[in-house]
Amino acid sequence: MKILPIANISYNTAGNRKVKDVGVSENVSYGNSKSAGLSNAYYPLINGISFKKAKEADFVDNIRDVPGITCACCGIEVYPYETVSRIEDEKLLFFMPEAVKMLITTGLFNPKQSSRAEQEAFKYLKSLSEKYPDKSFKNVMDLDSVQEEIQKELSPETRDKIKYYRPSLKELCRNSKDMIEIMQPYEKHFSGVYKDVFELLKKNSAKYPSKDFNYILNTPNVYFRHLAKLQRQQKNVVNEIEYYTKINYPKYQKFLKSKTKRAKDIIFDEDTIIPQKRQRIIDNYETLSSVTSPEYMEGMRKILSKLPKSSNSLSAFIAKYSYRSSEEIAHLILVSGASSEDHIKPQNRDKKDKGPDINENKIVMCAACNSQRSKTSYKDWLLIHPEMVQNCQKYIDKIIDSIISGKLVNYNDYPQKVKNHSLMNPAE
Ligand SMILES: [Zn+2]
Repeated sequence: MKILPIANISYNTAGNRKVKDVGVSENVSYGNSKSAGLSNAYYPLINGISFKKAKEADFVDNIRDVPGITCACCGIEVYPYETVSRIEDEKLLFFMPEAVKMLITTGLFNPKQSSRAEQEAFKYLKSLSEKYPDKSFKNVMDLDSVQEEIQKELSPETRDKIKYYRPSLKELCRNSKDMIEIMQPYEKHFSGVYKDVFELLKKNSAKYPSKDFNYILNTPNVYFRHLAKLQRQQKNVVNEIEYYTKINYPKYQKFLKSKTKRAKDIIFDEDTIIPQKRQRIIDNYETLSSVTSPEYMEGMRKILSKLPKSSNSLSAFIAKYSYRSSEEIAHLILVSGASSEDHIKPQNRDKKDKGPDINENKIVMCAACNSQRSKTSYKDWLLIHPEMVQNCQKYIDKIIDSIISGKLVNYNDYPQKVKNHSLMNPAE
């Protein structure tokens, strides 16, 4: 008996499963799955890996929950999204009693110089900390019962004070040494630039154990070194555009001149709101489309796509997220290891060409790969990530193994027809 897997997979002579024909064909195609007796069923095809069987098995629903499922792109093992909030709520954030203490140590509440409303608010938060000693401030505040109580029992002035404390307490994180210790066991799941960020934080937390992540990203040695690197990379792109124009479209050089100057101003001289610089550089060149040719613009956009992004460059990440709270930075790193559903045919395309939000159009990826891919077609994506072919195979194997070993949640509830298609094919 041989295993008929959920994707179009051929067998080599040894009987091992192997993804068939993974060349570069058009990224996604849809067809009618008549043979399966399921009318109007769409199934996508990624470069020869057909997800037709996945539809027939209809269990794509739970693939995110398959134990040990790996990212179909980079191959790292992902954990369920809930794991992220569990780590954050239970470990990274201070519990209520500590948070209330922080009100005093951070000077937000001064017992000796406080208004009546401030005292009331403090008293109320303290009572909550006794009631919920092992919940974070954020979690307690999210409780419906607490929200109701605040509305009903507290005066408007006291409510305002709590609202005022809320943003600072909500994001209270532990120091970098503790945070690293908590996150360390999950490191093997982090991927892409987020893995690099974690490495950097880990290295620096040894130097600044009592400081938080935000502090570390803003130390001159980290911040200015990476800012300079980012600027160098951005300048290289600007230079490449100049060179490309000079060689291929010399007649456009006169238009380009002011744009080059402006781009360098944005990179080096303009205000320090770093996060928006990338888009501003791109917009700067877009205005040339009215005086140049579409072919020229297309070539230019290709070069502009090399501008580092926070999702693929450590320097760009630091420039952007050095403004954010430690909680947010930790959150981004943790999310990178969580499972997410990549829409094979992207959703964020033009209305006409939009991929449907149905199981057959989904594949599990880590959040880092998912956000980096965005709406790139698989045709282009595979050129940058040839490893996806192998990793997709690993992903499919994992699903098959989990069915065979009975680990796929609720698999027993699937209709027999589905099971027939998804697993065993005695004829082979
Ligand atoms: Zn990935």
